[in-house]
Amino acid sequence: MSPDDEPHVICFKHCRNHIFVLKVPVQCPLCNHPLEQCKNLLPFGLPYPFVVANQSPCSVVLRPSVGDFLSDFHNNVDLHIAVTDSQGAIVEFDSPGLLRTANRSVDRKLWGQSLVIVTVPDAWFHHWDTTIVRVIEEQGWKRRIYDSDKLNCYSFVLAFLRLLLYEPIAAFVENTEAFSRQLIVPKTTQAAKYITIYRKIKQFGFLSEPDL
Ligand SMILES: [Zn+2]
Repeated sequence: MSPDDEPHVICFKHCRNHIFVLKVPVQCPLCNHPLEQCKNLLPFGLPYPFVVANQSPCSVVLRPSVGDFLSDFHNNVDLHIAVTDSQGAIVEFDSPGLLRTANRSVDRKLWGQSLVIVTVPDAWFHHWDTTIVRVIEEQGWKRRIYDSDKLNCYSFVLAFLRLLLYEPIAAFVENTEAFSRQLIVPKTTQAAKYITIYRKIKQFGFLSEPDL
């Protein structure tokens, strides 16, 4: 997915409403007034919550196991989590075991709408890459066998983060529950708000809220 394909929600003001659209229309969808001459629309783009995973180096990235966030995300959807290295390669532990996909080979359909759960400043990049190698080599993740309940994508990412010793998140990487509650849920909740607005626009052409 190229940045041009990203469906950006735009909000503008008209007839005492905030109106959310994907493209500012010729006429206001509420009052039918032509918008061309209007000076006070004050359009702005809602912050787009997703990234193309391989364009977000040294990050923990999350996507639905099947499909993408905008089309397929709901509360009980299975999510898949992975790590990117400083070159944008994706390192993940999935049913075939440990996988490493070089940046240029990353499937952009799969990873084009990802959430960044953790990332680090540039100064940490070298340590981050070294820690990926250490978790794979020293802890033997190359030979481990996937188990959807006991040894899954989260197990690998948490093992990596425990070895990374990155202070801002160190308290949340001991178990999946704390990690999920403190780091994943806030991001998916924020994304869900965008997804809800996006889906309403797709369904009705626009979404409006009174400007109080
Ligand atoms: Zn209007």
